[in-house]
Amino acid sequence: MRVLLAEHTEKKENLDVDVRMPYIRGFLLRNNIESLYIRHNDIRIFEKTVRDFIPDLMVTNKDKYSRLSPDKTILSRYFQTFYQKRFGKKADIFRMIPVFDADIREEENESGYIPHLVLSNSCNYSRSIRDNVLYKNLITAEKIKMRGCTFCTDSDSDVRWEIRDNTHLRNIFVSTLNYLQKRENREVRIIGEKYIQRPGKIFSLLMHLGIKDLRVIMTLRPEILIDNRKDFAEALTVASETGNQMILCSVGIESFYDKDLLLFNRYLDSKGVLEAISVIYELKDVFRESLILNRYELFNFILFHPFTTTESIEYNLRMMKAVGINKISKRTFLNRLIAERNSAIYYLIKEEGLSAEKACWKFRERNIEEFHNRLFMADTHSFKTDDILQVLSEYR
Ligand code: SF4
Repeated sequence: MRVLLAEHTEKKENLDVDVRMPYIRGFLLRNNIESLYIRHNDIRIFEKTVRDFIPDLMVTNKDKYSRLSPDKTILSRYFQTFYQKRFGKKADIFRMIPVFDADIREEENESGYIPHLVLSNSCNYSRSIRDNVLYKNLITAEKIKMRGCTFCTDSDSDVRWEIRDNTHLRNIFVSTLNYLQKRENREVRIIGEKYIQRPGKIFSLLMHLGIKDLRVIMTLRPEILIDNRKDFAEALTVASETGNQMILCSVGIESFYDKDLLLFNRYLDSKGVLEAISVIYELKDVFRESLILNRYELFNFILFHPFTTTESIEYNLRMMKAVGINKISKRTFLNRLIAERNSAIYYLIKEEGLSAEKACWKFRERNIEEFHNRLFMADTHSFKTDDILQVLSEYR
């Protein structure tokens, strides 16, 4: 059997990679299955590779590549199930040693590629959506995930597991370092809440392995910082002693506005979000060198959804200013809710009569749509919060 692993990776979106692919590659190698792994952003490269390699199976992370080999393509997230059904053997890909090298390289892509290490299931957030006053009486299909965030469709996100075997953990890090050593890159991203909640364990491990000058990227929910601030301080102490660094990014603030946070079924309210932000800044005050906050976008926001109002936007902008966010990237500010049809929030949107073909939803308030469109058309990569407030005043 010949397997083509075709991973679509955007050049500049090097944090947005398919975390499964290097593990699938490791699994195939371990099972002596011939494979070719390409990572690119140009469909013509994939077309040519399919023609030349003639795979028996193509594993990809994007639906759009299915048409290249329709009878033989599966999405990477279904690889385990597919393999088990076809060969009757268990395929636990995250128990494998990941192989990050791709067979076809494009220098620009390759140098920016950051290995993602999956050390446990990604998220342990399981607050009941049924207990949320907005969703209590909502009628949904049975299979809809009713725990965690209301926009989440990752039904595996609360299936808990973690790597416990120290040899395996060590091998995963060694594989990563070998990959990084061949390049100038010194960054690795950790996936897995069990480990992200205990960053001390990660940085102690790096110390024991004698690893220096490594930047460990972590994205997380803000409550993790509040609950584990001591562990973060300890981790950063070890990091500063060993010359390693922690990069925080995409901290899932989502909104400062309580109604938004309730709509998303987030754990923290507005006050809690502020506390988490102050933990970050306090840590930065103490660990100036070992904590990096400006390498990527520090916070993630979802300010635009069907129920967005001028009030919610104004509140968010004023809170941003209060915590020192005076400038924000266009992409982060204008980020719109993704409400998939199999998410709890989609059912709420539908019940409110706000579902639509395009993007699955429409704004309730026309002026918000116009406001969003106007900023979307602006020829800039970032906005000053004061400038957005100024524009907003025309839509109130
Ligand atoms: S969307 Fe929410 S529940 Fe889903 S994985 Fe992310 S943080 Fe966890």
